[in-house]
This record gives sequence, structure tokens and C-alpha cells, in this order.
Amino acid sequence: MNEVKKPRKPIISYYVAVMAVLLLFNFLLMPWAAERQVKEVGYETFMSMIDEKDVGQVEIDQPDNEIVFTDKAGESIYKTGMVNDPELTQRLYDAGAKFSSLIVEQTSPVITFLLSWILPIAIFIGIGQYMQKKLMNRAGGGADSMIFGMGKSNAKIYVKSSEGIRFSDVAGEDEAKENLSEIVDYLHNPGKYREIGASMPKGILLVGPPGTGKTMLAKAVAGESNVPFFSMSGSEFVEMFVGMGASKVRDLFKQAKEKAPCIVFIDEIDAIGQKRDGRAGGNDEREQTLNQLLTEMDGFESNNGVIILAATNRPESLDPALTRPGRFDRRVPVELPDLKGREEILKVRAKKVKLDESVDFSAIARMASGASGAELANIVNEAALRAVRENRNYVTQSDLEESIEVVIAGYQKKNSILTDQEKKVVAYHEIGHALVAAKQSNSAPVQKITIVPRTSGALGYTMQVEEGNHYLMSQEELENKIATLTGGRAAEELVFHSSSTGASNDIEQATKLARSMITRYGMSKEFDMVAMETVTNQYLGGDASLSCSAETQAEIDRQVVDLVKRQHKKAADILARNKEKLDELAQYLYEKETITGDEFMKILNV
Ligand code: ADP
Repeated sequence: MNEVKKPRKPIISYYVAVMAVLLLFNFLLMPWAAERQVKEVGYETFMSMIDEKDVGQVEIDQPDNEIVFTDKAGESIYKTGMVNDPELTQRLYDAGAKFSSLIVEQTSPVITFLLSWILPIAIFIGIGQYMQKKLMNRAGGGADSMIFGMGKSNAKIYVKSSEGIRFSDVAGEDEAKENLSEIVDYLHNPGKYREIGASMPKGILLVGPPGTGKTMLAKAVAGESNVPFFSMSGSEFVEMFVGMGASKVRDLFKQAKEKAPCIVFIDEIDAIGQKRDGRAGGNDEREQTLNQLLTEMDGFESNNGVIILAATNRPESLDPALTRPGRFDRRVPVELPDLKGREEILKVRAKKVKLDESVDFSAIARMASGASGAELANIVNEAALRAVRENRNYVTQSDLEESIEVVIAGYQKKNSILTDQEKKVVAYHEIGHALVAAKQSNSAPVQKITIVPRTSGALGYTMQVEEGNHYLMSQEELENKIATLTGGRAAEELVFHSSSTGASNDIEQATKLARSMITRYGMSKEFDMVAMETVTNQYLGGDASLSCSAETQAEIDRQVVDLVKRQHKKAADILARNKEKLDELAQYLYEKETITGDEFMKILNV
């Protein structure tokens, strides 16, 4: 879609250019032209013209020591320097010259000023205003006369265009698309809804984690319904001066109403829509902006063709007044894509990329579990960049696989900094994870194991792949997952009888999982189905806060330690039983540095 910014900048530069032209004109060209009008000649020329009786009018200008005169016909004006010549007056008289004092007409300074400054400025301002109006109309915004554009909405306006984003460009989010297609239908045919007495929601809130395509969906609604699209970020409303944001909201709605039917999109609405907590010294500007938004949303009738879409990844922090019926009363979840969604997004993003026949998107989608649309787009782009780096003009499966690792774990470190012993420890650690995963029947198969250090700091990792979508996990699966996470450390202990710092990330993940099992999933016998924790930030990392007494907290901690210990023991037992395979696989990985899941299973099963 074409983005047309409000043309304030070109107008300002227009006025600067006009001032520059005027200055040039008045200070350089005008004096030069004036100079050019009067020809300077020598005294002897003056003399000979007197002799030839070719002098018309003469002005003897004593203070300037100049003589200004015209020829007989009065066509040209000349000037010459004064010479001490007492008979000059008599000779001039004889030659028939007329004495005058107004050869070069002196216009009054006021008139000169009016003509050379005020009039051109007025003309240029007129042209400027006309152009501004024209541009505004083209861009879809209304001309406004606010001083220096302060308090204007700055909304980016996307006009209808044939290459606008369509629903087909947004892959995977079928439920959200279905929900929003009703809006498109309404914008196409509002009469149908009005007739039956139905009114569209005024505001629709798109909620979901970052990078899932909320902005894209909003643009797609505009693209499908072929209406102007105003886009603004919540933070753009908040200004240094109290009242400015509110004024911007007013301006945005004024423009939107003029352009109806249209879509107004407010990204990151939590920047202005946060709960007003009434604390003294709160953010006055933000609260005023929010109040203005609430008032504006109440102010227009629901069927006037202005639909407001807003996106946020912190819906729980929004002010209840904003989400009440009649304002943002419809909530459309835009979740992370599932397996099928990921595959579709990859296909859509790879449309413009030249692909090798070997590319299997479903395998890539399985490997990139938990990735958002934006991350998948990034993976495809990284793969294309890698192909260019390797002087190929098509993207292969291995480009895509490598780029998943780049997105997850960063680039490969070229100069390995691991000592031989460290490399051995890392090899055992990774094989420990993989072996524990493989020996527990319910764990997902291993895709790849590598001990090439990455720029993110990971010294190696085991990539596990889910075969299908996983919406539910049983207690046993979760316990196995914890056992797999402890498998790395268990292998180090078994072989080297010591622990290293390499397991810190595993420990963090295992603890988090164990804690959730006890406090949120009701998987502890003592607490039964009582929630001890509530998730506060569902879409941004899922932070949780404890809501229980100090004694219960101590009990929770005890149970978490107990659970992790049991799984650690289980992992250690599995490895001890398969010590030979552990040695063999670790040695193989140590030599090869990267092995695939198939190679791993082959060695394990012989
Ligand atoms: P959000 O607003 O949810 O943070 P965006 O809509 O800005 O995310 O998405 C960022 C980028 O990610 C888009 O420009 C697009 O390239 C890609 N993307 C995200 N979701 C999808 C999807 N469902 N289909 C195709 N591309 C997507």
C-alpha cells in the first residue's frame, strides 16, 4: 500500500525556498538591475553629446558629485562624474538641455517596500496555501490551521492502491481473518447492516505476542475494503506539553470523520490506554490523551463508517473504560502460529525467493516451533542472504535450517575458542540431553546436535522437533522434559565426576517448568487444584506472580527441588544404563561437531 505522509515538510521547504528567492531578488538582482538602467559614461562623451546638442534633461547632483542626463529622445539615461567646469551650465543651456531633478524617478520607500516584499510574499503564500490544500485532499487529510502543525495528528495515511496488503498475504491467522472479514463486508456494504438494525463495533482490539501480524492484519482490512487507512502509534500521541496528545486525538478523529468510511489503526495502544491509577503526580498528559480518546469514541455514532483497530500485547494493562462495550468491545486474538500456520507463513514469505527443489517447508516449520510470523519472515530472509553469501542464486534446505539456528542461537563463531577438554565436556553434555530424550519414549525425536559455539553464547545444543501440534501436555511428558533438561549435567557428572557452568540455561528452564507444574497446573498432590501463581504478562514472556502465604512458598520451593531432583536422578540412571552408547555417541559428536538426528538414531540402535 502506498504510504502518503502529511505534506507539512514540503510546505515548510516551499516557504524557505520562497524567502531565499526574495532575498536574492531584493538584495542582489534589484540593485544590479537598477545599476544597469543608468549607463555610466566618460566626461568627454558628455561633452561631445552637448556639442552635438544631443542632451535632453540634465540633473546635476552636487552631494554625489554626479551628473545624470538623458539623450535628446529621452530613451537612455547616462551618468558621469562631475568636473570643475564653471561654464557647463551656460553650454548646456545653449545646447537646449532642460534642467530637471527627477530623471531617475524616486519612488516612495513605502511603495518600494510594498512592491518588492509584501506583494511577492502575499502571492507566494497564496500559491503555497493552494498547493497545501491540493496535496491534503490528495492525501486524504483535511487542511487545518493549527499553529506550526502542533497538535496535529501526524497520522500516516495509506491510500488505496492496487498493491495493498491483502488477507492472502497474512498466512495462518485464519480465526482472526474470519473475524475481521465481517468488518470488510460492513465497509463494503454498510446499508445491509443498518437495515436490520445491527451496528458494527466501533473499536476492535487485536491482542497477541509481538510479531504475529497484528499490524499486517489491520492493513489487510484496509486493503480488502479499499478505504483510507490512518495509522498511528500510541506513543506518538504523548507529547511534552499537557494537552497536545488530546489535541492530536481530536485532529485524528476529525480527519477520519471527513474521510469516512475509513480505518484508524492505533498501534501499541497500551502507551496511552494504561489503567489510570489515580496516583498523585501521575502522567497528566497520558491521562488527558486517554480521556480524549474515550470521549471521541463516545462521540461518534457507531454506523458512520469509521472503524478503529488497535493492537497491543499487554491487554491486561488497559484501562477498563477503554474495553467496555461501546468502545473497544471486540477482542481478536492473534496468537503464535501453529504447525500448519508456520508452514503457510514460510510459503507466503518465500514467494519472492528462488527456491531449490529440496526445500521442505513442513520440516522447517516443525523445527521452528514457537516462532512468530516475524521470526519466520526473518528465517526466510536469513536463508536468502546465506545463499547470496555462498554465491548461489537459489535457497536450499540447508540454508533454511542454518538460518533457524541463526535466529535461535546466533551466528556460528568462526574461531572456536574451546579447548580440547571443554569440547569433550560439551559433547558429553549434548549427547546426555539427546540420549535421555530418546530413551524416554514420549520425548520428541532429536533433529540435530551440534557443538559449534554460537554468538549467543551457547557452546552447543540439541535441537528437538515436535512431530505435530502440541496443545496439551501430560504430567509425564512434562517430567520427561525436565529429565531431558537435566540430562546434560547428569552426563558430565557420570563421566567427569564434576559439574560445569554450561548447564545454567537448562537449570533455569527446568526450574521454571517444575514451578509451573506445582503452582499453576495442579500437578502436586499437596496443593491439588489450587492456583498459587497468576500469570501477569501473558504475551510478553509470561511472568508470574506468587499469591500465597510465606509458609506455602517455602513448601512450593521444597516441592520444586524435590521434583527436579527426582528427574535428575532418573536421567542419571538412564545414562548409567547406556554408558557405552553415551561414550560412543559423544566421541562421534566430538569428531564430527554436528550430527543429524538420523545419524544419532543409527548409532543408538545398532
Ligand atoms: P505485530 O504488529 O503483531 O507486532 P507485524 O504485523 O508488524 O507484527 O509483523 C511483522 C512482520 O512479520 C510483518 O511485516 C511480516 O513480514 C511478518 N509476519 C508476521 N505475521 C505474519 C503472517 N501471519 N503472515 C505473513 N507474514 C507475517
